[in-house]
Amino acid sequence: MKIVILGGVAAGAKAAAKTRRLLPDAIIDLYTDDTHISYSACGLPYYIQGNFQDYRTLLVRSPEEFEAQGVKIHLQCRAIKLLPDCKQVLIQDLRENRAFLVDYEQLVIATGARPVIPPINNVKLKNVFTLRHIEDGIAIREKALNSKHATIIGSGYIGLELLEAFIELGLKVTLVEFAPHIIPIFDDDISKIIQEQLLSICDNRFEILSSELVTEFFSNENGEVTGVKTGTGREFNTDMVVICAGVKPNIEFAREAGVAIGETGAIKVNKHMRTNFPDIFACGDCAEKTMIINDSKTWIPLGSTANKEGRVAAINLSGGDEAFNGVLGSAVVRCLSLTMSMTGFTEKKAKAEGFQPVSVTVTKNDKVGYMPDVNNITLKLIADRTTGLLLGGQAVGCGDADKRINTLTGALLGRLTVAEFTKNDITYAPPFSPTIDPLLNAAQLLREKIKKE
Ligand SMILES: Cc1cc2nc3c(=O)[nH]c(=O)nc-3n(C[C@H](O)[C@H](O)[C@H](O)COP(=O)(O)OP(=O)(O)OC[C@H]3O[C@@H](n4cnc5c(N)ncnc54)[C@H](O)[C@@H]3O)c2cc1C
Repeated sequence: MKIVILGGVAAGAKAAAKTRRLLPDAIIDLYTDDTHISYSACGLPYYIQGNFQDYRTLLVRSPEEFEAQGVKIHLQCRAIKLLPDCKQVLIQDLRENRAFLVDYEQLVIATGARPVIPPINNVKLKNVFTLRHIEDGIAIREKALNSKHATIIGSGYIGLELLEAFIELGLKVTLVEFAPHIIPIFDDDISKIIQEQLLSICDNRFEILSSELVTEFFSNENGEVTGVKTGTGREFNTDMVVICAGVKPNIEFAREAGVAIGETGAIKVNKHMRTNFPDIFACGDCAEKTMIINDSKTWIPLGSTANKEGRVAAINLSGGDEAFNGVLGSAVVRCLSLTMSMTGFTEKKAKAEGFQPVSVTVTKNDKVGYMPDVNNITLKLIADRTTGLLLGGQAVGCGDADKRINTLTGALLGRLTVAEFTKNDITYAPPFSPTIDPLLNAAQLLREKIKKE
């Protein structure tokens, strides 16, 4: 069996390693346009911050290790055309500028996603970065070590992780966000709390320009960025810019070949990670996801999901039968001492999906009040008014916000109602939670609110 894998970070590397174990005799070739494979992109902000000095700490498995197991790795080789009828891919070798065709019996598309660049005048300048690959991380760290001020465009997960990195490196930071509050993936009321808490933790070491669009960069005669202009006419100087304005899936060559693209703009797959071509699989950030709560289509590109999907694709192309049921969009991010976590639908998304969401938000101690490291945690819990079905939750605090959200994920997976969830028997001891955990407290309040309405 000849298996070709395109892309080799999370989904592609996982698919290659798992296929190797399942099909010891198969010929496996992995092509990537990247200079590295099998690395933790998620660790890049911590490399930039200087938590470790050697970027190679981020590498999970080297090309040599893959080759020793009989997986041939082709770095800097980009898939530019797919010929599904002939079962061939046209590969461009970026180093030698030549193209060649490779045959496959089974193909895995794991080409991930790339950063979105918003329309900004004079955007192509030195010291204007995006963060996706190892080289990006190296270049950003290098520049940050020689800068006084950084601008971050976009305040999603990556923007906030970089904010922490730059502040820890001693830079002044301006965070520009198009939405009225930072981290707009959360509901507005929670984003507002996050913004207030971060500003109070950071003690003026950064400023937020919300409801602002960057429209133009200024530069010097060396083509280096020197300043930023926003839509309201505000101008300020900066030494470097990182654009963190979201990502989009790398699907163009697949779409041109007739691989079906879903309503979200990512490659449509079934639960076996199969595309509309039975011998072509797609997994990771290039593939569409199913929301577990209501089976709607979504695109939430995360490394946790990419790994699971790569494994499922490998099992199925190897003749097995494994389903990937979908995602809840569970995520967690830290910025300085603040943890922000969420799962399921936000209230605004639940409304858009046709639910009648009802929510409660509680702010409580995260452990018993006499413990020396007690902190506040704010928790928002959302359910459907008609059925009582739990729909999602968001948590923010200096304590274990993600612990509460991870407890909720099980309830969403099991499609529990709020009333059912209040019966949950979760742990208690003074260093870990109050006698009634804020999550159960929120669930009780939500249950009563639903009963009254
Ligand atoms: C800074 C940062 C922090 C993150 N933090 C988290 C986190 O904390 N938690 C979390 O769950 N997720 C996190 N993510 C997201 C996570 O890294 C991605 O979801 C994950 O890497 C997706 O894996 P993938 O293999 O699908 O795609 P990618 O990682 O995008 O890899 C795809 C690879 O395919 C290559 N490629 C693209 N097109 C072609 C082509 N035509 N031919 C050949 N090769 C091609 C790309 O160059 C790339 O090397 C983070 C991402 C970044 C950038």
